[in-house]
Amino acid sequence: MSPLKLKLINFFQQSLDSGINYFLFEEAVAERITKPKKHSTFTTEFKPITKTKSREEIKNENFNLLFNEMKNNQNTPQTSKTDTSIIEQFKDLNQLQTHLQTCMNCELGITRLKLVFGSGSQSPDIVVIGEAPGEEEDESGLPFVGRAGKLLTDILASIKINRDDVYITNICKCRPPANRKPTNNEINQCEPFLIKQLELLKPQFILAFGLTAAEALFNKKQNLGEYRGKIWDYNGTKTFVTYHPAALLRNPN
Ligand code: URA
Repeated sequence: MSPLKLKLINFFQQSLDSGINYFLFEEAVAERITKPKKHSTFTTEFKPITKTKSREEIKNENFNLLFNEMKNNQNTPQTSKTDTSIIEQFKDLNQLQTHLQTCMNCELGITRLKLVFGSGSQSPDIVVIGEAPGEEEDESGLPFVGRAGKLLTDILASIKINRDDVYITNICKCRPPANRKPTNNEINQCEPFLIKQLELLKPQFILAFGLTAAEALFNKKQNLGEYRGKIWDYNGTKTFVTYHPAALLRNPN
């Protein structure tokens, strides 16, 4: 990790410790600035949360500041809506992945380092669907490579399934800043790609990890207990919902 990034993370941690609560987006953007591959020209100064403004208000202000700067910068890709008629033309996963690599359909395209398309068997019985990439996935471009990923490998092994025999992907293909939950817009923009992935992979089963993934697939507000232990149908594929490995890391019980 670069010294600058460390410094920024320490600064952010201190601000949390001292109760100032700087908006998490600031950290994500700071991270982007320290990895100058793409958008190295930001001059935007972000506003801290104050007692007179809510976290949400500051978040929007900061986001707009950054967005306006990006809009004025010709080199910065703009966001655009998902065009499902283009997706329908793809005949295999490679074509879909190539198209998706440069996706700017939502704001996550601005802050991601690498898009995490998915990996594993190309003719799997099971497709595992997580929420969204974390830091290590964003850096490597591969799903579930961090601590939760190691637990996922063990969970599959405990039911005699080799990780290489399944296909692993996420509801959202790009990392949300500071690992926040993906927004409805981000989920909706990404869903046509997931549907196409599943259409090409034709799995027998889907295994969905965690409430965010379950709600994104079934659009039903209920707790994880109600999702678990039942067979759901996602566009014709039998689907099981279980705990997210990251939740199991936090609470092994
Ligand atoms: N958590 C997820 O939901 N997906 C990943 O790829 C990694 C962690």
